[in-house]
Amino acid sequence: MNIKTIQTSREKIPLHTPFATALRRVENVEFVRVRITCKSGAVAYGEAPATKAVTGEDLESIITCIATVTKDLLGLEPFEALHVLHVSAMGSSAKAAVDIAIVSLLAQQKNQTLLHYFAAKDFSPIFTDITVSLNDADRMLLDAKKAFDDGFHILKVKLGSDINHAVAVTKMICETLADAEVLIDANQAWSLEQSLYYVDAVAGLHVSLIEQPVAADDLKSLKIITQKSTVPILADEAVFTLEDVKRVHENGCADMINIKLMKCGGVSKAQEILEYARDNSINCMLGSMLEGPVSIHAAFCLAFAYRDVVKYVDLDSPLLYKETPRVLGEFGIIRNTIQSLAGSSTYKG
Ligand SMILES: [Mg+2]
Repeated sequence: MNIKTIQTSREKIPLHTPFATALRRVENVEFVRVRITCKSGAVAYGEAPATKAVTGEDLESIITCIATVTKDLLGLEPFEALHVLHVSAMGSSAKAAVDIAIVSLLAQQKNQTLLHYFAAKDFSPIFTDITVSLNDADRMLLDAKKAFDDGFHILKVKLGSDINHAVAVTKMICETLADAEVLIDANQAWSLEQSLYYVDAVAGLHVSLIEQPVAADDLKSLKIITQKSTVPILADEAVFTLEDVKRVHENGCADMINIKLMKCGGVSKAQEILEYARDNSINCMLGSMLEGPVSIHAAFCLAFAYRDVVKYVDLDSPLLYKETPRVLGEFGIIRNTIQSLAGSSTYKG
């Protein structure tokens, strides 16, 4: 199954409502899709979105990176290609797009779906959270109520640098939606002082976790917040690779970690982190950027295989698409109940 061609295309999926965090506001999911063909006739896909604010990559740099590594991968068997890919110097999202496609080829070589390749056994439903975008407080409460009424009971609430707004929104949502599970994501927007003020102000409310309150490189502050907070602290932008995860875990800088394919370089690298998490009993979120359907599918397959450590799944991009792409229908991703992946044996991606 030697690799014959590697092609890239730019794809865009409109969102039904704009997505806003402390770092950015977007109206479309835009991503690069990689298509790898083999001499055997096998075809596999991978994807990477542009999230310059997080990984420093845009669509152009992802395409350029993939074009550069292509010459080193042509003619190789998938397992050789995977090795060459991960010793190449390139952005983590570009790497992830190619990694997802190559791992799909490895699964195809064994005549397995990705789910079976990752050794998933429990196919009972996994529920993703849904994002409540950063907005004025009344609008965020309305959005949270609507999401809850629509059946989404795990809310990921995006908060910004206005700490009074952050506290007010948290109180409004928790007091109004007593049965919702509330996850808070500050996307690095707060200082240490603001974080400690927030932690104190929301004590007693049913907040399940606080994600990346301070700047990614400020592990010192993250550790202090983790020590003082009664709510678990989740590291997101602070952990890209397995080495980052080890550093954060060994130094007690966070209680949980958010694994994203685009940060770590794809499914094979995410799997290494999940194995480490399993060995060290670290609870994880399996997260995503605003992504296309193929990369979200790959992440879901991992979530099924590592559900003992994956406590939260933040893979709601497809729910934000204006229209469900045909490919999602094949994956059986319906509303917030993602339960049909086990039956997607026709899908070879
Ligand atoms: Mg986050």
